[in-house]
Amino acid sequence: MPEGGIYLCEWAAADGEYRLRLRSNPDLQASGPDIDECMEEICMQIIEWNGDGEAVLELFPPHRGESFPGGAIVFARVGYTDRSRAADYEQLFEGRACPVCKFGLGVRSDAPLRLESQPEGMVCGVTGCYPILQIYHREFVNMLADKELSAVELRPVYQNDQETDYVEVIARKTIPTVGYKGANYPTSFQRSFRCGECGHEKFVVDAENINYGTSFIDIDDIRADTSAMIVVDDGWCQSLAFLLSRWRQLLDQTERHALTSNPLAVLDSDHVERPALEECTEFDWIM
Ligand SMILES: [Zn+2]
Repeated sequence: MPEGGIYLCEWAAADGEYRLRLRSNPDLQASGPDIDECMEEICMQIIEWNGDGEAVLELFPPHRGESFPGGAIVFARVGYTDRSRAADYEQLFEGRACPVCKFGLGVRSDAPLRLESQPEGMVCGVTGCYPILQIYHREFVNMLADKELSAVELRPVYQNDQETDYVEVIARKTIPTVGYKGANYPTSFQRSFRCGECGHEKFVVDAENINYGTSFIDIDDIRADTSAMIVVDDGWCQSLAFLLSRWRQLLDQTERHALTSNPLAVLDSDHVERPALEECTEFDWIM
């Protein structure tokens, strides 16, 4: 019996009336002039549906949070606070690396991830390979629920042939980031590009009135049975992202400043675009 699950709940208002609908089970609906009462009604329906008596609803778009035309900040995307380098990056992907952009081709191979130095902190970015691999301290992973962990495979990470306190997270499914209609995709410092050799794409979104560093996903790409955790791939790094309510729970369980995040916005499909990126044949950021 699930308890304390976090559920994405879509809402709209018209003629002084709110209409709410649960994303993972659209049969669960409520409407009325008071949004709090509608939320209580949905929570009662969740109890009947799956027995979760402590459901937490995350409204989409946020009712009192940060929203903008066509979307809203709904997720926190986990960032890293420390770095280490991969010792044997050539082995990490099935198809080795693209000779031009150096991004790994194909899926992650069975080769274990070995680090040149011992990281510190809860979340670490592993550089020297592309994409950057984000690794998580076991203390962080231990806070996650079984349902969240069922969406990923965890692999040990080594340094000097010793297993470290970190694990690599291999997602069974990732959600790609998308562009925001009307935004710019800055190309300076190769922040946005398409590799002319292998076709790999990576871009950052610069949109008016939206904090730089925000990334965007399409609401239709969130599975109907979305849990409070997803894995997002922006072409540079794959990272875990959590519904804001769930993220606040995790922050409450850790020491201050141990975790950082970047905003992840969900867009309705009318505001999604696939940017046409400048083709690149030389990469000066490769070290
Ligand atoms: Zn390439």
